[in-house]
Amino acid sequence: MNTNKKKKSLTTRVLLGMGLGVLTGFIIRLAFSDNQFINEYLVNGFFDVGGSIFIASLKMLVVPLVFVSLVCGTSSLKDIATLGRLGGKTIGFYLVTTMIAISMAIFMGTVFQPGAGADLAAATTFSTSEAPSLGQVIVGMFPTNPINSMAQGNTLQIIVFAVLFGIAISACGETGERVAAAFQDLNEVIMKLVALLMNVAPYGVFFLMAKLFSTIGLSAIMNLGEYFLVLSAALLIQGLIVYPLILKATTGLNPIHFLKKMEDAVMFAFSTASSNATIPVTMETATHRLGVKNRVASFTIPLGATINMDGTAIMQGVATAFIAQAFNIHLGMGDYLTVILTATLASIGTAGVPGVGLIMLAMVLNQVGLPLEGIALIMGVDRLLDMIRTAVNITGDSAVTVIVGKSEGALDIDTFNDPDAGKKVEEVKLAK
Ligand code: ASP
Repeated sequence: MNTNKKKKSLTTRVLLGMGLGVLTGFIIRLAFSDNQFINEYLVNGFFDVGGSIFIASLKMLVVPLVFVSLVCGTSSLKDIATLGRLGGKTIGFYLVTTMIAISMAIFMGTVFQPGAGADLAAATTFSTSEAPSLGQVIVGMFPTNPINSMAQGNTLQIIVFAVLFGIAISACGETGERVAAAFQDLNEVIMKLVALLMNVAPYGVFFLMAKLFSTIGLSAIMNLGEYFLVLSAALLIQGLIVYPLILKATTGLNPIHFLKKMEDAVMFAFSTASSNATIPVTMETATHRLGVKNRVASFTIPLGATINMDGTAIMQGVATAFIAQAFNIHLGMGDYLTVILTATLASIGTAGVPGVGLIMLAMVLNQVGLPLEGIALIMGVDRLLDMIRTAVNITGDSAVTVIVGKSEGALDIDTFNDPDAGKKVEEVKLAK
């Protein structure tokens, strides 16, 4: 009888699922790529169904989680001024980190010249639709029908409605307290659902990786090796050096604790390539592992997953430099400044779902007159890079969450410093 046999931590199990998935995918690609049975029933059957159900279940939680936890968060805020300060600080930090990210990416792209020597000629230049004006963006944040916003998963509109709803609750006195208590209970139930889903995540991640790596063409990476390397390096610098430095400088906290605690969220972001689908895990990490109070994290995390895409901005910076070099088009200082501004705006407009960053790149290229067929050039390696940049995107959201949390007195330092905080795999008992 071995009752104290320790269950492996969630992180180890997800990592195992990921590793086995990549291996299985590679084996299928190398040895069974012509096998119709394996392709039809295993890759496009079993793996596809398993992976799709996993992603769907994650997404299923996003709207209720964002709405309920944000209502809880805002209804516990004392006054509107606090909310305004919180919003201003958060958006300010998001913009600054994005600008640092894109500037560093352009610097690396111009120093290492990943596209030099390709000597491509642009066949045509075609134009894309214009970026929406600032006015349109702001008006678009206000829902005309909140149920419709939820049905469409429009995070910004849900945030606006939840914040207003929360403010009204806190202004309602005794009645408000009853409603707030009900929302607190509901929040607990939804977090339990998140825990339930995290327990099966190792299998979900296995299916996603096995399917992806049995179909992905790695030969493209060889051709675009330099682009791939420069971009991955820039993404790693942002994740492993820039955020830790900013965190240390603004809060004095130990950045190693921060990075270690990001492991689960980073793995989910990597496997799903979607900041949005990762929201439940990022929230869990921010509140339970990093110790940021729900009143801050419930606001900053969904907002960050929607408007703060530092990894995406880095991709756009390196890609712009790469495409300009490949087509022998000279970009001056002014052009690069335009790229910084447009990519920051594009990052706000990029939805946190797979591949959208590449589409938004069209807007950036257009601004500086680069040929859009450059996008086709880098498409082949984009999926893998999308996984890495999404991990950077949510790490940026979490870093800003800790910074804002600390400055608002909403960070539990003991939890932040405790390496095991929130680590245990929550056993979800379904029957008494
Ligand atoms: N996949 C990214 C995200 O969800 C967005 C992108 O760059 O395509 O954060």
